Amino acid sequence: MQNALSIAILGGGPGGLTLARILHLHGIKATVFERDTHALARPQGGSLDMHPETGQRALQLAGLHDAFQALARYGDQGNRAYAPDGALLFDDANLDGDTPEIDRSQLRQILLNALPSGCVRWDQKVEALRPLPDGRHALVSAGVEDEAFDLVVGADGASSIVRPLVSSAQPAYEGVTIFELGIDDIDQRYPALAALSGHGKMFVKGSNTLLAAQRNSNAHVRLYAAIRMPLDAVRSHSITSPDTRRWLASTFAGYAAPFRELIEVATLLAVRPMLALPVGHRWANQPGLTLIGDAAHLMSPFGGEGANGAMADAADLALLLARGGEWREAVLAYETMMFPRAEAAAFGAGQGLRGAVAADQPAHIARHMQQGISPRPDK
Ligand SMILES: Cc1cc2nc3c(=O)[nH]c(=O)nc-3n(C[C@H](O)[C@H](O)[C@H](O)COP(=O)(O)OP(=O)(O)OC[C@H]3O[C@@H](n4cnc5c(N)ncnc54)[C@H](O)[C@@H]3O)c2cc1C
Repeated sequence: MQNALSIAILGGGPGGLTLARILHLHGIKATVFERDTHALARPQGGSLDMHPETGQRALQLAGLHDAFQALARYGDQGNRAYAPDGALLFDDANLDGDTPEIDRSQLRQILLNALPSGCVRWDQKVEALRPLPDGRHALVSAGVEDEAFDLVVGADGASSIVRPLVSSAQPAYEGVTIFELGIDDIDQRYPALAALSGHGKMFVKGSNTLLAAQRNSNAHVRLYAAIRMPLDAVRSHSITSPDTRRWLASTFAGYAAPFRELIEVATLLAVRPMLALPVGHRWANQPGLTLIGDAAHLMSPFGGEGANGAMADAADLALLLARGGEWREAVLAYETMMFPRAEAAAFGAGQGLRGAVAADQPAHIARHMQQGISPRPDK
């Protein structure tokens, strides 16, 4: 009975792929529809730290603990905070921490390697869902015949097309935009700059600005230049614009020379206005439709719970479906379990963003680190 359930997962991010994998382990077939043409079609973004009770637990339940451990970077868990004038405020290598880093592309590949062939349909952007009289939903994609499923899981991120079918909530701008930059091969090319962040992350808090650097694998460093600014002003910027580069340099002009140099030598990769769904977003259960990850609870990365939360959602939903019994009850039980977890994470992320990119003193960052609360856009 359970195996006859037809499941479509929209989106092959950390949430969607984890769900497909754990379902597969329990003998439940699901099809992932992903608009990317292949796994590395676009840069996947910076490194992720996997938290024990969410991301790591999901990887365990996916039977991928060993594959993860083979790539997990326990040596890159350090945290540093500087004042904009270069004074070191906090430094902890955190070598016995349990939130190891992994590159997003590596995480995606681990999950993909563990899925049966044909499970992910690449290059298939789902344009809409069409409700059918029998309660199923047909997926509408350009150039492909509509296909109907009992359960459609929206794992399709911030601009989910499933979300509007269950909720009228819209993501809102949180007043901060992150300019994401990258430096390849930093150890060879810029050893002095590599030493600033060491093995882990560094944070430099200015007034309404924050510069964070995060070490990835292969001596790549990812920079997050976060700026409190109106959304209208964001629209004039792009990764190819020389004006944006000049404006970024002038915005961080008050920072000490090595921090300015980090920005100067880096490649601008993305301009990301921070959007979030309302804290405590939830919806009335709708047969045949549900959401996981950013589609359900988009939040800023200042709590480090986004990908971790998406994977926790996936694990919970998969285990409840695998238990057998009425699948609609399983979906309701998943939502009941997920809503409070997501609310707590979203509250923390909002607070993190408001505290980290603010007009107060740089010591804020060091205080948070001493208390074990990360202010960063990636933890
Ligand atoms: C700068 C930054 C740093 C971050 N750092 C961290 C961190 O350190 N730790 C952490 O836990 N989180 C972090 N996050 C948050 C994290 O990136 C997200 O929460 C996470 O990726 C959500 O996973 P997801 O699977 O729900 O959605 P996504 O990763 O957004 O995946 C959605 C997938 O759906 C596909 N898709 C979308 N629409 C369609 C469609 N119509 N048809 C088919 N496919 C579709 C997309 O191509 C994509 O592959 C960070 C975010 C940012 C912006």
